[in-house]
Amino acid sequence: MYGDVAEILYSREQIDERVKELAAQITGVYQDRDLTVAVTLTGAFIFAADLVRHLPNSVRITFVRASSYRDAEEPQQVPQLDIPELGFDGRHVLIVEDIVDTGRTAVALIDAFRERGAASVRVCSFLDKTSRREVDVDVEFIGFTLTGSPFVVGYGLDRANRYRNLPFVGVLKPEVING
Ligand code: 5GP
Repeated sequence: MYGDVAEILYSREQIDERVKELAAQITGVYQDRDLTVAVTLTGAFIFAADLVRHLPNSVRITFVRASSYRDAEEPQQVPQLDIPELGFDGRHVLIVEDIVDTGRTAVALIDAFRERGAASVRVCSFLDKTSRREVDVDVEFIGFTLTGSPFVVGYGLDRANRYRNLPFVGVLKPEVING
């Protein structure tokens, strides 16, 4: 598995450091309020596990799934959401994503939690691929901003459901990507 990696973009140490900083930033905003953390499956599971352990707040955790499909009526991909009915009315919801790319998943989730009566909805993404954004979305907490639009794996992010367990974020060798 390690031999498939062409380059490491963020090391385990850099990630650990940044996750701690992010948690401090989040605590600064929410103070001692109770939080509902909505983790996007599957990519954000490792990031979320690390992040919540640095939060002193009382936290409820739920897992949400967003799968993109092409709607016959819509030229763009529309994420289809699967959100457990945990009860979000009056809650402060923090959406935790692995990566914000086009922004469509984040926008769909923000709308969904607002519709469910959340008192506030914010987004925390481990990575931000700003160059590929298609919709306007406010990502308040960002781990790292990628320059360019490399396809990255590791720390939860996959290619064909592999490489999620790499402890760092990297890019794969071209021969691996092209088969
Ligand atoms: P979007 O912001 O486009 O709605 O969706 C982001 C989703 O696209 C992420 O949750 C992830 O599943 C996928 N994605 C986007 N860029 C990458 C990447 O570089 N690597 C991996 N593994 N997934 C990506």
